[in-house]
Amino acid sequence: MAQEVTQELAQEILGDIDNFLFDCDGVLWDVKGPIEGSLETINKLKALGKRVCLVTNNSLKTRQKSVRKCQRLGYQICQDEMLCTSWIAAEYLRSINFTGKVYLVGPEDSMGAELDAVGIKHIGTEPEPAVIPSYADCLANLKLDPEVKCVLVGFDRQFNYMKMLRASSYLKNPDVLFLGTNPDHLLPVKSDEFCIPDTGCILSPLVLATGRQPTMMGKPSPNMFEVLRKVHGLDPSRCMMVGDRLDTDILFAKNCGMHSMLVLSGISTVEDVQSAGASDATKACPDFYAECLAAFGQFV
Ligand code: PLP
Ligand code: CA
Repeated sequence: MAQEVTQELAQEILGDIDNFLFDCDGVLWDVKGPIEGSLETINKLKALGKRVCLVTNNSLKTRQKSVRKCQRLGYQICQDEMLCTSWIAAEYLRSINFTGKVYLVGPEDSMGAELDAVGIKHIGTEPEPAVIPSYADCLANLKLDPEVKCVLVGFDRQFNYMKMLRASSYLKNPDVLFLGTNPDHLLPVKSDEFCIPDTGCILSPLVLATGRQPTMMGKPSPNMFEVLRKVHGLDPSRCMMVGDRLDTDILFAKNCGMHSMLVLSGISTVEDVQSAGASDATKACPDFYAECLAAFGQFV
């Protein structure tokens, strides 16, 4: 059962935890701008000697740009403390000595740039016709590149039928890797009017078409933690993941053996916390929850 953070619990947390991992959107900022009190909380934790790392599923920025955004907002974060899915995907392929080409369904200026940085060739970001003339024309023009050995899917605002057809066709070959940056199905924007699909909705038709499941690069997959474990030697039992989503952040914590805290300044609600874990294995129950990061920060 999740416990709401109190002064007493906060002191226990500070005694047990050396490393705090923070999700970004919904914890440090949201679409409206910085979330009040988050920067101050992180500065207090740093002043106590706690290590702070940021872990975001957003594939729209390179790691360098993510660090720059944080620094602009006042966070003293270096590259080794920032993990984002565009970088982790390139790092994953580099770590397995991938030598083929990637068919990229995702932004050139973030995911493409990270692949370039590790010398991995990629195609897929050139424009495709928005309307396909006919099946026959379409298939006649569908030339597949035999060097493609991986389909990598992130948040692609230009996703269309041709890309779906091409990606599915590459994936028909079981030797072609299927990687996804993150499973989030909606963008973290609260709206009574709009429903804004995220990367999970771009992955879904490919899963349906091919019967294959992607290897996920971002939360809740432990990939990002493995990098932090290697670089900083983190012990998960001395780490706490603080996030706003049960299905990504809190499940990530559980998958890696970390402690977890949900903040209610983003997507998941206190009602979600009460029902989490009971019937739905895709959502984990946090150890602690707080109204927002500052609500924990007041006790630090
Ligand atoms: N995916 C996209 C495309 C986003 O823009 C965002 C947040 O801005 C996310 C995922 C979620 O990011 P986070 O893991 O920091 O909440
Ligand atoms: Ca978030």
